[in-house]
Amino acid sequence: MKHRIVVLGAGYAGAFAAGNLARRLSPADTEITVVNAVPDFVERMRLHQLAIGQDLAFRGLADVFAGTGVLLRVARVTGVDPERRTVAVTGEDGDGVLAYDTLLYALGSSVAHHGVPGVAEYAFDVTGRSSALRLRERLAGLSEGGTVLVVGEGLTGIETATEFAESRPDLSLVLAARGELGAWLSPKARRHLRQAFDRLGITVHEHTGIEAVEPTRAIAADSTSIPADVTVWSAGFAVHPIAAASGLEVAETGQIVVDRTMRSVSHPDVYAAGDCAYAIGENGRPLPMSCASAGYTNMQATAAIIARLTGSEVPTTGLKYHGNHISLGRRDAIFQMVDGDVRSKSWYLGGRTAARLKSGVLKGAGWSIVHPTFGMPKRRRRLATAPDRAGVRAAA
Ligand SMILES: Cc1cc2nc3c(=O)[nH]c(=O)nc-3n(C[C@H](O)[C@H](O)[C@H](O)COP(=O)(O)OP(=O)(O)OC[C@H]3O[C@@H](n4cnc5c(N)ncnc54)[C@H](O)[C@@H]3O)c2cc1C
Repeated sequence: MKHRIVVLGAGYAGAFAAGNLARRLSPADTEITVVNAVPDFVERMRLHQLAIGQDLAFRGLADVFAGTGVLLRVARVTGVDPERRTVAVTGEDGDGVLAYDTLLYALGSSVAHHGVPGVAEYAFDVTGRSSALRLRERLAGLSEGGTVLVVGEGLTGIETATEFAESRPDLSLVLAARGELGAWLSPKARRHLRQAFDRLGITVHEHTGIEAVEPTRAIAADSTSIPADVTVWSAGFAVHPIAAASGLEVAETGQIVVDRTMRSVSHPDVYAAGDCAYAIGENGRPLPMSCASAGYTNMQATAAIIARLTGSEVPTTGLKYHGNHISLGRRDAIFQMVDGDVRSKSWYLGGRTAARLKSGVLKGAGWSIVHPTFGMPKRRRRLATAPDRAGVRAAA
């Protein structure tokens, strides 16, 4: 019987991990199944571009995994039972249960509403393809002079406001920041950011926490009313509640608590990678939800899974966060390096060079996922526990 590896989620972490596992483990004794809610690989880092009307190409996962041996199941995960080692799914084929020997949980995250009244009913977001498409339709119908309020001064809020302002100069863009815009950046990078906002004509309300969203306005903590035809909620990401409900040990955030090898601390057959993993980086702090962290955590998880299955020493791969790379539309960006304590270094890269670099990073991340067979070795590693291998070892 083959060792069944089930990967939940085919985003930056899951899709890369599945391809990597398939490239390095022999199909003679492993079966790798990927479960994803949608049939395509969605480049989440470009969803604000999709929302503002830019055309993005989505590559089908069936096409991505063709020739790798990875089995694709397009279905929504509804539950995980780590005691029985099963996953409940629902899809076009109806409900089903998948059994696993090793599980890699990489379901990512979605928008965090923080319980703010009206957000679920009236606000839009760019955290998933369906919500970005809903926003795209709304923005396409918004005529000149329409007001778009972006709530949140984090990376996604900044990227969304600047992208929208650049692509639709006919709209009036407003950003509500709980603190100061770019407070965490180095002084020079902050100046660069503020100049970009001025150039793009974005109005910023600082020290303005939004406490309610209504159909045509948002209400701040001090009762100020900000008129908005469209409110885009960019106040952080939250993980899906599936992990917490399953009995896996989770952090307060709902992320799965993992050890240095991305293995669940409560269930050793389960690994987590990407936004849903509560992974401690080399600086002793939790890795931020980001594409870079999805890369580090999935590399570590796959290295550990392969080593444990093939009976070799588990390697440790890098978990060091280097910095933030923020697009400011298509022609400007900021690359801010951080130190070991995640404090911004004085050096930053800005302008067209940073924008070109960011564009290269986005293309590289997408390319590495949609080419899982690149560098596929002719011989892949056999499991240490495979029946025929046990005989070989006994004879040795
Ligand atoms: C607009 C935007 C811009 C961003 N820009 C940057 C950036 O510049 N740099 C950066 O580092 N990060 C950026 N991020 C964050 C980055 O996209 C995430 O941190 C990254 O996608 C996490 O990867 P992941 O694989 O954990 O999750 P995801 O990429 O979200 O993948 C999760 C996968 O799981 C699937 N899934 C979810 N729930 C279920 C379910 N119940 N059943 C089955 N399948 C399911 C989804 O369909 C998806 O394919 C941005 C995010 C957004 C929204």
